[in-house]
Amino acid sequence: MSLYWKIAGIGLTVWKWNLDWRRSLFDWEKTQVCQLHEEVSGLGLELGFIDWWSCKGSMPPVYSMKSAYSVLRGEGKGEFSYLYNLFWKCKVLPTAQVLTWRVLENKIATKVNLVRRGVVVVNIICCLCGAQEESTNHLFFGCRIAWLVWNQCLLWLGLVSAAPIDPFSNFLQLSLGKASASVNSVSGSVWIVVVWEIWIHRNKIIFNGGVVDHLEIFSMAQLKVWTWVTFKVSTAQFSFSDWCLAPMSCLNLL
Ligand SMILES: [Zn+2]
Repeated sequence: MSLYWKIAGIGLTVWKWNLDWRRSLFDWEKTQVCQLHEEVSGLGLELGFIDWWSCKGSMPPVYSMKSAYSVLRGEGKGEFSYLYNLFWKCKVLPTAQVLTWRVLENKIATKVNLVRRGVVVVNIICCLCGAQEESTNHLFFGCRIAWLVWNQCLLWLGLVSAAPIDPFSNFLQLSLGKASASVNSVSGSVWIVVVWEIWIHRNKIIFNGGVVDHLEIFSMAQLKVWTWVTFKVSTAQFSFSDWCLAPMSCLNLL
């Protein structure tokens, strides 16, 4: 963010972040501020120590391009490594891909994660269902509203699944067995965009007074996947109506 901001240390031994903004924030910036609070809340500065960068994903913890790629590719995560490989081949916008990667890593600024990082959250309850705490697994997979979205998605694709609440297992539910890599990259894209749309819908409710509508989430996901896939995949030459009516037939054309 290109705004001026001020930080302040209180006391000699305890560091407290005090982010002071020059102007009122736009609604879309409030989400970024929540993420920023989450990022820095666990960090403190100490007098007499020289700053240095560290990277949790490498040993020794020194940042390098290689270590960054290693983290993004899920290296060292055993059986899950191939999922990351599939994930990064999906045909979506990088913005959506990065956000959903944060979901896989449980690094997204849900209310439970914000509280865990020391951020004061007035109401920790999920704004979609109003029934349970807004954790990552709940918001995207366990929530009653999220379940309606996934159910709609599975019906549309003609798939049957137990709709697991673990992100990795949930990602796999749209994996089409022995289908080609290009087909699985599109089915994986559907998963990414549905997760992304749930997050957008959640923010719309919190910051813009939106109304819960699971069909809106599903419809927007349908449209965005079609838009991005037909733009990025040269063999994807099907119409939007065909995509809505017979998605599997469209996938077989790839
Ligand atoms: Zn919920």
